[in-house]
This record gives sequence, structure tokens and C-alpha cells, in this order.
Amino acid sequence: MINWTKLKRRIPSKVVIGNYTYEVLFIDEFKSPSTLGETRLEDKQIVLKNGQTPKELVKTYLHECLHAVSEEFDVNLTEQQILKMEEALSFILRDGNIFKKGKK
Ligand SMILES: [Zn+2]
Repeated sequence: MINWTKLKRRIPSKVVIGNYTYEVLFIDEFKSPSTLGETRLEDKQIVLKNGQTPKELVKTYLHECLHAVSEEFDVNLTEQQILKMEEALSFILRDGNIFKKGKK
């Protein structure tokens, strides 16, 4: 299981991806109402829309991080590939899945 609310609270204000530090910002509205997040590659910003459920927000955040990873590591993922990776990351994040649960 994934505790989306806990993950949402742990979204940092800065995230290091490759040689760059991306600022994580929240806004109420994008120009296009259907946009939930945006990675500004020039400005090194990940911008997330307020008002999403914790699960949506975390997935949007992961999605935007993947855009930044794709750029900074020269992976050149397409939007479709990023959407699939976003789904796949949910399994990576699942507690006790790719790493067994253990004592601290
Ligand atoms: Zn995208």
C-alpha cells in the first residue's frame, strides 16, 4: 500500500535532479484548466496545481520529476512513456515491495 497523504506532505520545496536543483512550486491555476503540473526546464521549476487529491498530486509530482529526469539525463522520453513510467513508479514506491520492510 502507498500512503499518498503522507507522501504528499513530504513533497519538498527543492529537488535535485542531475546537476540541477528544481524548485517545487504550487499554483492555483494554469493557463489551460486541464493542466495539473508543469516542468519548466529553462527555469528549473516543477509547478503543481493546488486542489488535487493527495494521490493525484503525488502522481503529478512524479510525472513532472520524470520530465526533469528525461531532460537532465538526456533520456528523451515521450509523453506516453512518461505516463507509463508514472504508473510504474507506484510499484517502486509501494511499501515492502522492491525493498523488504525492515527495522530502522
Ligand atoms: Zn507530461
